[in-house]
Amino acid sequence: MLAEIKQLLELQRIDDEIADLGAHLASLTAQRARLEERIDAERASVESLQGRLAGLERESRLKNLEVDELDESIREYQHRLDKGIISFKEMEDLRAKIESERVRISRMEDEALELMDLIERTREELVEAERALEEREAQLRAEIERIASGLEETDGKIAGLKAERERLAGGITPYILSQYETLHKKYRDPLAAIVQGTCSGCKLRLSGNTIERAKGGMGVVQCEHCSRILYVD
Ligand SMILES: [Zn+2]
Repeated sequence: MLAEIKQLLELQRIDDEIADLGAHLASLTAQRARLEERIDAERASVESLQGRLAGLERESRLKNLEVDELDESIREYQHRLDKGIISFKEMEDLRAKIESERVRISRMEDEALELMDLIERTREELVEAERALEEREAQLRAEIERIASGLEETDGKIAGLKAERERLAGGITPYILSQYETLHKKYRDPLAAIVQGTCSGCKLRLSGNTIERAKGGMGVVQCEHCSRILYVD
């Protein structure tokens, strides 16, 4: 086999490995992005629970305020009634009013109690959700750490291969290297073995002349169909 072909095969092997590592790098990067998205989603769900609790607490404060105000008005009506310096008709009206406000306040107090219960349950739910988030986030962070070290390792390997490729390419005749580079833009495998009279790249039959030239080691011979550089195993 021609020395040039051997060099090109080695170059192709390195390029193949770089391409595989590049794909691995992309998949690790995508995995990391998915894990980060999951952390964001889980955080958002806890934040929404925090928001719900804050809303309930606000509602409860308003409800209690309303109860206090109503209680205050009932006292005032009662006070006016007790002083008795109003007409019988007014007294009747006040009594009816007090009665209806008492019904209202009692309903509001029930609602306030229900709200307190709901707040209590939501607080417990939140404590549990925050604890679960902490645990889950620690797991996801550990996974992200593992991926990050995988990324670093892969980056290192790629850098090493690129340096190796540069050294190797430096020793290849420039016009042959340039033929290879042009083909490499089009094919992952710019070199193809001749297998039973066909090009292993495009699977088409080669002419006898091409095969003879490749076998005779008459310089770099290309496939007449796909232009891949041919070699005999
Ligand atoms: Zn071919």
